[in-house]
Amino acid sequence: MMSPSASFGRGLGWLLRIGGPLTDEWVKQVKEANDIVDVVGGYLALRPAGPTFKSLCPFHDDSRPSFDVDPRRQRYRCWACGKYGDVISFVQEHDRVSFAEALELLARRAGITRENSEPTPQSRDRALMLEAARWAAGQFHQCLLDSDLAAQAREYLGRRGLLGETVRRYGIGYAPASGQWLVRLAEAEGVNLDILERVGLIARRNERPGFYDRFRDPSSFRFTT
Ligand SMILES: [Zn+2]
Repeated sequence: MMSPSASFGRGLGWLLRIGGPLTDEWVKQVKEANDIVDVVGGYLALRPAGPTFKSLCPFHDDSRPSFDVDPRRQRYRCWACGKYGDVISFVQEHDRVSFAEALELLARRAGITRENSEPTPQSRDRALMLEAARWAAGQFHQCLLDSDLAAQAREYLGRRGLLGETVRRYGIGYAPASGQWLVRLAEAEGVNLDILERVGLIARRNERPGFYDRFRDPSSFRFTT
């Protein structure tokens, strides 16, 4: 029923390529504007533990909270698998994007732009596409977690021994068979259909106006939001 997971995150690698050299000054500015606890806390459930914050590690199959985020040093480290880095490398690894893409995402998150370099229409466009793709990935994930439409998919995963925790950690999602599920959600939430089409998630109907979902059962996704 479900195909082996296609990696959504990796597939998005081409979406953002920003031009121009990335100066150290700009990198520093982006880092200063994005507190690592805030950013990582948007992805993982962080719990305060003394001077740091702890969570299950997103980079290995963690059974106890081995992942440590240090607000003072603005660094993270996993004591089990050894992954470590700063806010940019976290986004890079977690979202499977390039350094430049992680920088762009974080700059947008903090609402800052590079001095003397308005984003080109191209890079703005790509950022919009990436945002739309992340939105869709979140919808597929939520669907697998709680929708009635995904009951069979959950059963299937359960039989394979994949528990809710794994589904959450690896951001696995489910695309229902209706053919209009994503299109309707996008309409309801005011998400731009043309952009979703350009990302390749929906397509224009031939026979009449409107769009249909390109990914539906038996498609499943592995993605990184
Ligand atoms: Zn780890």
